[in-house]
Amino acid sequence: MTGRQGNPFNGETLQKRPSRELDLEGVVRAIGVEDVRTIDPNDAKAVRRALKEAVASDELSVLVFRSPCVLIDRIRETPYAVSESCTACGVCSTLGCPAIAKDLANDHALIDAAQCIGCGQCAQYCAYGAIVQPASGSSSEGGSHE
Ligand code: SF4
Ligand code: SF4
Repeated sequence: MTGRQGNPFNGETLQKRPSRELDLEGVVRAIGVEDVRTIDPNDAKAVRRALKEAVASDELSVLVFRSPCVLIDRIRETPYAVSESCTACGVCSTLGCPAIAKDLANDHALIDAAQCIGCGQCAQYCAYGAIVQPASGSSSEGGSHE
């Protein structure tokens, strides 16, 4: 999350030259932190579990959320879409994903297929199973309901 800038942990300098890639978890352990965990930020259950355990722990915990940058090397998966099961609860919009909007006619969620990278995070938070990933090639242009 550096705005595409090189940093000591992604193997690039600010001038985009190749550089030695430091081991972030190793650096944290080297300064004495024993509870260091690497978590996939796209796995909502794993994120929640790790945060709960870290907050409950009496020791210092460091959580490293590691996943390819969506702007640089994320492979786009088939975009997700919102089905008619949407209850307009609004939970998915709290994720802050720019691909998720609201249908002004009924408050149902809308997903812009042009912006969705298919990470699946919103589907993990929808308690109604309303966010689905259509079979590749069958998603509607520009997103919206199925
Ligand atoms: S898609 Fe799911 S989480 Fe989003 S508003 Fe509809 S019911 Fe709620
Ligand atoms: S699948 Fe990922 S990118 Fe697509 S709308 Fe959901 S959270 Fe956003």
